[in-house]
Amino acid sequence: MKAAVFETPGLENLRVIDNVEEPKINDHDVLIQVKVAGVNPIDHFVASGTLPRVYPLPHIPGAESSGIVEELGNHVNNSEIKKGDRVVVHNKVFDGTCDMCLGGLDMLCRNGGLIGAITNGGFAEYISVPERNVFKIPDKLDWDVAASLPVTSLTPYHALKEASLKLNEYLLVFGASGNTGMIAVQLGNKMGAKVIAVSKDDWIKSEFGADYIISNYEKVAENVKEITQGKMADVVMNSLGVGTWDSSFASVGVNGRWVAFGGLTGADVKLNVQSLYSKQIKLIGSTGGTRKEMQELIDISPKLKVRVWKKFDLENIKEALQALFAKERDGRILLDMA
Ligand SMILES: [Zn+2]
Repeated sequence: MKAAVFETPGLENLRVIDNVEEPKINDHDVLIQVKVAGVNPIDHFVASGTLPRVYPLPHIPGAESSGIVEELGNHVNNSEIKKGDRVVVHNKVFDGTCDMCLGGLDMLCRNGGLIGAITNGGFAEYISVPERNVFKIPDKLDWDVAASLPVTSLTPYHALKEASLKLNEYLLVFGASGNTGMIAVQLGNKMGAKVIAVSKDDWIKSEFGADYIISNYEKVAENVKEITQGKMADVVMNSLGVGTWDSSFASVGVNGRWVAFGGLTGADVKLNVQSLYSKQIKLIGSTGGTRKEMQELIDISPKLKVRVWKKFDLENIKEALQALFAKERDGRILLDMA
């Protein structure tokens, strides 16, 4: 099969090879023909060697895949899954036996990891994954949305739930026109919050349902104060890291929650503990999401949309990964295997 492979981490070592051996399926695995794969910063970290734990080597990256079931292992018990089904891959490997898994938190499995990082991923014609990672999607669901569920949608959904977002609260989303941001805006809206998007792109309000937009990055807290009539935001989602830390923390109101699942511009921030406790602010870290949340997202997925900036074919995977950090990027980057 055709796949993007590197033997030594480093983007310059990533090659597209025609005759990679098709993945073997064990008794409880499912072989999937990849249709559309999401391209995310995590894939760049894997391919460039920023992520320390990557195997096997040679390695196929790709953490977000959707496709069609090609073959089932001999003992696949899930009667829901048949050959030819349209599916997405929940991308966390987990043992199902540790204390985290027993508590339903399989994305925190003590012996787990990410598909595409500690296993081969979906930048290939075929991917083999355990049956419990395979989720059926609605018949007519757009592939672009399907390929945006496992990382791009599940991550902000879980974060909003960790932050206990409630009806009528103010949700402030930094990077609102980015991958996870555009989904957070839609989910915040569906969860009944008043969504304030920090973005220079008007489409996040006109097409994706943000209630307010703040385009002056220097005056975010001042704008939030005005919009909320002094109350400030109940939930602030900011995975942009140190570059927006000050303005995001200053935008959290009394009894508010600040949540992050990334730190793109750098992770070391300076925290004023007094303003943390005096306002009873909760700082929340979030990662991935549960399989139950994955199913909830799939159930509402026909009502979600994604803005796609560029689609690449597998041959141009390197360009696709580099385009993630292009200044002019305006929407998602997807890999179309069709
Ligand atoms: Zn576990």
